[in-house]
Amino acid sequence: MNLILFGPPAAGKGTQAKRLVEERGFIQLSTGDMLRAARTSGTELGLRVAAVMDAGSLVSDEIVIALIEEQLQLHAGAPGFIFDGFPRTVAQAEALDALLASHDGGIDCVIRLVVDDSQLTARIARRFAEQGRADDNPETFVKRLAAYNAQTAPLLPYYTARGLIREVDGMASIDEVAAAIDAVLAVPA
Ligand code: AMP
Repeated sequence: MNLILFGPPAAGKGTQAKRLVEERGFIQLSTGDMLRAARTSGTELGLRVAAVMDAGSLVSDEIVIALIEEQLQLHAGAPGFIFDGFPRTVAQAEALDALLASHDGGIDCVIRLVVDDSQLTARIARRFAEQGRADDNPETFVKRLAAYNAQTAPLLPYYTARGLIREVDGMASIDEVAAAIDAVLAVPA
């Protein structure tokens, strides 16, 4: 089963992905986590992407597609993948389809976590106070939300046309969102 957790920054994708990893043994592929790890370890890639991330913009398709390709190869044979924060552009979605097809697979389901902008802004303000992640500051967050609306939201029609989108109310509690995701996954696509 290959699953995309889809939604704007701070919709709860990472939280729900981690639970699915624990409960189902899926592999979480978060491009945001991979890029942050590259920065922390000071690799050449990390240095290249730092300014783009801090500006709240999207890193190039080429870079994130290469990261995903590497992880798919590394975990070939896993029971399932959860794509978290990827794809974020139509070009990334097309590349993902091609990569999965080359492993005899495809996307089975896109779970869209629906959260309104005021709730996202409140969550990010809290996360910024708690964790101090540079790109969570209010000015950068506005840019990340704009990038989502301009470049990532156009993926909704891409997956809707293929009947893959399942909407979940992301404003509910973490446990309620988890239960709603489990209910979606219990129904064959
Ligand atoms: P995230 O933790 O998923 O919100 O990602 C943090 C930042 O990493 C984003 O604001 C982008 O700068 C970059 N990033 C993460 N995933 C992608 C992606 N799929 N495409 C382009 N940039 C990404």
